Amino acid sequence: MTGSNRQEMSCIFCRIVSGDVKAELVAREPGATAFLDVSPLADGHVLVVPDDHVARVEDLGEEAAAALFRTVTRLAGPVRAAVGAAGTTIGVNNGDATGQTVPHVHVHIVPRREGDGASSVHGIFPAGPRRPVAEVGEAIRARLA
Ligand code: AMP
Ligand code: ZN
Repeated sequence: MTGSNRQEMSCIFCRIVSGDVKAELVAREPGATAFLDVSPLADGHVLVVPDDHVARVEDLGEEAAAALFRTVTRLAGPVRAAVGAAGTTIGVNNGDATGQTVPHVHVHIVPRREGDGASSVHGIFPAGPRRPVAEVGEAIRARLA
């Protein structure tokens, strides 16, 4: 299969998008699908996936990326309000080393409330020495050129 209908039959999220596997769907938008995480980190934990199988964020095409983030943007408020939360942590595990367990891009939207015991994104990284930011900035700009 090719083009905009690229599916991997071994991929659980492709199978949810195709309707082959049941999930608690909350939105189907052009290019992206949203459903509740089967093991929620909080009530209302939603996953938003591109309809086409792409493993990593950097491999998303422009259109798929736009569709994905459009759906995330549209859902963030309603998901938060539906469970009476104060905010949402929105994140992507991108690659094996990050703990990504399903190799189909998915954006987690996790409702948050004051004192819920979870940390911010900063809390997942240990303190440690870092390279000078100017040096790293230069390395990134060189690869973008
Ligand atoms: P990650 O660790 O970022 O790859 O997250 C994968 C997420 O997918 C986990 O939070 C799982 O609970 C969730 N998940 C795996 N299988 C399913 C499924 N069939 N339906 C809904 N969520 C799922
Ligand atoms: Zn897939």
